[in-house]
Amino acid sequence: MANYKPKSRLTAKDYINGVLKCDRVILSRAITIIESNLESDKILAKEIIQTILPNSGNSIRIGITGVPGVGKSTFIEAFGKHLISQGKKVAILSIDPSSQRSRGSILGDKTRMEELVNMEDAYIRPSASGDTLGGVANKTGETMLLCEAAGYDVILIETVGVGQSETAVHAMTDFFLLLMLSGAGDELQGIKKGIMEMADMIVINKADGDNIRQSEMAKLQYKNALHIFPQSESGWTPVVSTASSINNIGIDTVWNEILKYKEIVSKNGYFNKNRNHQQIQWMYNNINEELKRLFYTSEGVKNHLKNYENEIVSSKISPVKAAQKIIDAFKNSF
Ligand code: GDP
Repeated sequence: MANYKPKSRLTAKDYINGVLKCDRVILSRAITIIESNLESDKILAKEIIQTILPNSGNSIRIGITGVPGVGKSTFIEAFGKHLISQGKKVAILSIDPSSQRSRGSILGDKTRMEELVNMEDAYIRPSASGDTLGGVANKTGETMLLCEAAGYDVILIETVGVGQSETAVHAMTDFFLLLMLSGAGDELQGIKKGIMEMADMIVINKADGDNIRQSEMAKLQYKNALHIFPQSESGWTPVVSTASSINNIGIDTVWNEILKYKEIVSKNGYFNKNRNHQQIQWMYNNINEELKRLFYTSEGVKNHLKNYENEIVSSKISPVKAAQKIIDAFKNSF
């Protein structure tokens, strides 16, 4: 199975040329190669990425998060259309480690972003499937590079708000946007402090109808809450605004703030510094994922795990000793 090579594959050159021409069919097929776990595809993927690398990076990468129901897809639909009206090309990716292709991921759901999905200058790709968040994040990162090489100059990476995925999105984006709701009771509920701390901007969505006054109050509360956090290294002070995604109100404000941010961090050097840091982290992330994969697929390890599990449960060996024995077996397998 490991050496199996599907017939439907193009040459690396064909994928590269197709991506650079922004042929969306080829782009999608190239992303499929990135997401594939076949050994032959992994080799192909590395060649494609390495070659398109000089054509990547020319975008602003925006992370978007918020609890389910906050209006992420409605916001992205409005925001994406606004960006396109400004002459931008937008790619929308997502990180959702829980998604599986067969079930259809949340972003792949046809009811989401109905208009955007049909627009020439928008490219929407459902989340890669995978067992580990790190693996999904790596694949999404490479997909982002392909989209940039294809000429998409705004990349939106949405997280479906399940714990750690926000951190993964933050680690691969330039600007982190948190969508919130004005709520009944405690305004700060539902979102972890650590996530608020990562935000460059908080948008109180659904600021319409009876909710306008409450949203303005929530805006003040979040502004005050953000003051507690230490000044970010970016030199940017996070902003809070309100929006109504269904009525297209406040959407332009978000983009204007992002442009201001980009100007400030480009001038003070943080933009490049942060990207360089992210690249290095990405390398380590890849090493970690690959090591894990090599470890758990090695014959010396795979065959003994169950035995050691049983020995641990029957108190024959301590977990620490079992771990050491398995690692020794791995080392000896070379
Ligand atoms: P997601 O789960 O975060 O992607 O949220 P959705 O975009 O699917 O929105 C959840 C629900 O909130 C849907 O019924 C939307 O129509 C509604 N919604 C989204 N944005 C707004 C808004 O600005 N105002 C109001 N009133 N409803 C909204």
